[in-house]
Amino acid sequence: MSTFSDPKLSAADTVLPWQSDQPLGRLLTTCRDVMLVVDNQSCCLEANGVASQLLGLPRQTLVGRLMTEFLDLEGNFEDLWQAWLQQGQGHSRCHLRLANGAVKTGELSLTAHISPHCHLAIFRDTSDRQQLEAERDTLKHQLEQQVSQQAAQLLRVEADLRSQQRRMDSMLNSLESVVWSVHPDSLATLYVNAATQAVYGYSPDAFLGDAGLWLSCIHKDDLPLLMDYIRQLYQTGKLDCEYRIVRADGTIRWVHGQARLVVDADQTPIRIDGTTVDISDRKQAELALKDLQATQQAMLDAIPDLLMRVNGDGYLLSLISGGEITLYGPISRDQPQSVYAGFPKALADLRMHYVRQALTTRTQQRYEHALELNGQLHYEESRVVPLNDHEVLIMVLDITQRKQAEAAQAELNHKLTLVNAQLNRLATIDGLTQLANRRSFDQALNREWRRARRQQTPLALILCDIDYFKPYNDNYGHLAGDNCLRQVAQMLQSVLHRPGDLAARYGGEEFVMLLPNTSIDGAVQLTEGIQRAIADLNLAHAYSPVSGVITLSFGLVSYRPMPQEHSPRELLHRADMALYQAKAAGRNCYTISQP
Ligand code: GH3
Ligand code: MG
Ligand code: MG
Repeated sequence: MSTFSDPKLSAADTVLPWQSDQPLGRLLTTCRDVMLVVDNQSCCLEANGVASQLLGLPRQTLVGRLMTEFLDLEGNFEDLWQAWLQQGQGHSRCHLRLANGAVKTGELSLTAHISPHCHLAIFRDTSDRQQLEAERDTLKHQLEQQVSQQAAQLLRVEADLRSQQRRMDSMLNSLESVVWSVHPDSLATLYVNAATQAVYGYSPDAFLGDAGLWLSCIHKDDLPLLMDYIRQLYQTGKLDCEYRIVRADGTIRWVHGQARLVVDADQTPIRIDGTTVDISDRKQAELALKDLQATQQAMLDAIPDLLMRVNGDGYLLSLISGGEITLYGPISRDQPQSVYAGFPKALADLRMHYVRQALTTRTQQRYEHALELNGQLHYEESRVVPLNDHEVLIMVLDITQRKQAEAAQAELNHKLTLVNAQLNRLATIDGLTQLANRRSFDQALNREWRRARRQQTPLALILCDIDYFKPYNDNYGHLAGDNCLRQVAQMLQSVLHRPGDLAARYGGEEFVMLLPNTSIDGAVQLTEGIQRAIADLNLAHAYSPVSGVITLSFGLVSYRPMPQEHSPRELLHRADMALYQAKAAGRNCYTISQP
């Protein structure tokens, strides 16, 4: 190893080539790399300021040190060193160990033999550049990673977007409504879903290929209306209407269209988005309902009754039919009105009584009332039908005419009753004598006879006949005869006192007395009373062989009808026989029928 005291350095060499006034010396001071002048053993002969600054050692300390003390070459130093010295130069990457322990990376260039046994070693510090390069590489790597991550993310986002788009398409295409988007001016289709096929009968492609198809599908009667709506759409930004379309197969459908004008930041229209829904079924139902309602209303209008819905508090909820009842003036159809506002108080009180009654009992109530309006009497019939817990339907019928007819009918009935009574009396009374006639007697006889048979009581008959009445008539005249008959009848009537007794004209100048529950003794008693009474009448009969006055002959019978008997014929027959016997016995007497 050589040193500065190397004997090979002779005195002739005292002017050293790296002194400051020498070209190398100037290079040493101006160079910005580490410069070392070394001998053949790589021992440091001189070092520049950059070397001492970088290594952190004063120049004097560096001089005399071997390069290997602070330099590591990549590879075997001795081999490289010898090769470089032979070749005259050499380069290698190397690391410079600093005094503080840090390591600088750089490149070592050796220019051998700058003067005898002197070589120039230049170490260029590339640590910063390498660090920068390393950082750049890291950054580049990171950037590449980021780019690749972003690319992957972009791919994922794109895939997501495509999936969303597919999902959206699938959703839109599964809708029954047509969803569409058109150019605001040309109406060229920008998007339309698959529902066009079902609604319009045209495929989405047909709309995408023909901007005029939308309008050509609109029913001609609805086109002017729709054009108005479209004009409004440009002003208001919205459209909402119902109209008809003609499908590809010519059928007509009702649709509900809704649209929105989409504008950009400058308010310039860029699209019209909208939906079209087939509402034919609903529309048909609506039209049918409208028809039904119109029919119902016509029917209700035709009902002359007042029909109204009233709640438990007496408020008219609706007036279903105003009918022809206008007795109280107009009734508001528009807002709930109390029955007290629309009707006289007494009527409203009455009405509310039945409303409560109907709601409490859940049964229909019916009442009639009369009221005087403008001096005229009106009648109404009201029916109150509960609809639910708190509402009733009231039907009010003007029954004035019916009531008037009923009153007229009642009067007629009364007259008829009087006439009938009169007729009845005429039918049962003998016109001349005013006693019961034969028909009436027969009925009474049958009735009393059955009662006597049932009750086993005696039934008596007194049959009497005016003696020699024919000569009376013949001599005194028919009118006198009638008059005589009337007086005898009156007398007969006057002797009867029991309510069940009946005196009747049996025929001609023959009379009969029906005496229920009367024994023969009673009949005799009565007959003798009649004999006294006829005597008292003292009706002159100059042509009677038996007396100078009117006399009577009597046939009496009384018995309890037998249960096996079927008619009063026997009773009558026996009375007749008894009378016949009295006549035969000389007249002006009575004969009792003997069983
Ligand atoms: P006898 O004592 O047997 O009963 O004799 P008579 O004359 O009363 O009987 P007859 O049967 O021969 O005559 C009854 C007469 O009564 C005949 C008729 O002129 C008369 N006569 C019957 N009905 C009426 C009547 O309604 N008015 C009048 N004026 N006479 C009547
Ligand atoms: Mg007679
Ligand atoms: Mg007679």
